[in-house]
This record gives sequence, structure tokens and C-alpha cells, in this order.
Amino acid sequence: MENTIRCKDARGKTSLSIEIERKYEVSKGVVLLSGGLDSAVTAYQANGEVDKLYALTFRYGQVHSKEVECALQLGLILGAERHKVLDLPLDMIGGSSLVGVGDIPKEPTQGIPSTWVPQRNAIFLSVAFAWAEVVGADKVYIGVNSVDYSGYPDCRPEFIGAVEKALNLASKRFVEGGTGISIETPIIHLSKKKIVELGLKLKVPFERTWSCYAGGDRPCRVCDSCRIRARAFEECSIEDPLVKGG
Ligand SMILES: [Zn+2]
Repeated sequence: MENTIRCKDARGKTSLSIEIERKYEVSKGVVLLSGGLDSAVTAYQANGEVDKLYALTFRYGQVHSKEVECALQLGLILGAERHKVLDLPLDMIGGSSLVGVGDIPKEPTQGIPSTWVPQRNAIFLSVAFAWAEVVGADKVYIGVNSVDYSGYPDCRPEFIGAVEKALNLASKRFVEGGTGISIETPIIHLSKKKIVELGLKLKVPFERTWSCYAGGDRPCRVCDSCRIRARAFEECSIEDPLVKGG
């Protein structure tokens, strides 16, 4: 970008033009911030990597709002440039105990559990790419993990690689300008223990995150998500602030 500064003397007769070339460019990233532990660690990582962070949270028909409340608090603490909370009623599609179809399992089940929300990450990433294109962000961050997880197909690296390619092909910015948007998955290959350790290093306020599939005052400690989280804190030999004294 070039700027021209004009100076005049006291009588307004002499002018001087100076050409300034600005090299500095602001880096921007959109982060999918659910309010869970993984998305919080991902958002903190992203915040250290970009100049401006745009947080995106969905009310997708979850049976409780605890996660969304945490997401809002995290967005404020992080100082996000903007934070959008969008309504996307996937409960009208159904197909998941997370949106009220059947009970949330209290013990491990075979195969992909009933908490799977069909195409959730594909839908969320599409919206994140749309916003990234509008605000001029080069990166979309998502806290998927394919190590200690519930086996959801849309958390796997092969899905992320394929959807990144597909969404860029659907982007005006890429087709006309040749500049793609990348999907950043900083915790995809980390164990849950390593994610907690990274969160500690980044000073993530774990007390402002919510992993439990149920929405009580305190985590239920029996659902899949609670079990995976509890094991990670145990392996790190620290107490989860959410269950302290419980
Ligand atoms: Zn739980």
C-alpha cells in the first residue's frame, strides 16, 4: 500500500510528497469456538498465531447451553476482534442424542456413539469459510482431535484435508485470486493429556470450558466426554477445576 504525505510551508506555497510503502499486513483467523476444552486450547493457540481472531460459536440445538456460555466468556477473555454466535437448529434434522434424540450414553458403546451429530463439522467449517472470505482471514481453526475422541468421522485428518480442498474450490477468493484459506488443526494428533498440557502452557482457563454432554451444574462424570477429560487431568496429575472438591 502506498501513502502520500503533503507538507506545506507557512504561506502554503511549498509542497512535499513522500511515498511510503507499508509492508505490514494484519493476519486474521477464524476459530470455531464451541466452549469445550479442545476448542479453547485451539483458540488460545490461534490467538498467539494471528493478529486478529474472529470467534464463531453455534447454537445448534444442543440440549444445554453450558458450552455456549463458556464460549462467550472465552471470546471475551481472548479479546476476539469479533465473536459471532449463530443459530443453526440441527435439532430439526435430529439424529443425535446431543440434540435431544434419545439418551446420552452413560457408558462406552460400540462404534460411533449416538452423540454423533451428522455432518456437524462439515456444516460448521462451511460457515467458517464463508466468514473467513468476508473478513479476509487466511486461516480457519478447528479443535478436532483424532486420538482421544469418540470416533466421529468428521474429526479425522482425511476429512479435514478433503473439506479444505472442496471449500477452497467453492470460494470466490480462491477461484479469482488464487489465495486459499487453510484449515488449522493444532491438536489433531495430540493425546488428551498433551492437549491439557498445551492448555496449561497457554494459560487456558479450564474452569471456563465445558466438556460434559449433559448440562447440569457440575459435569456428570459418566458420559464419554467427561471420561476422556477426567483421564487426561489424572494423567497430568492435576485437578480439573470443574470437579474440584467433588
Ligand atoms: Zn458428562
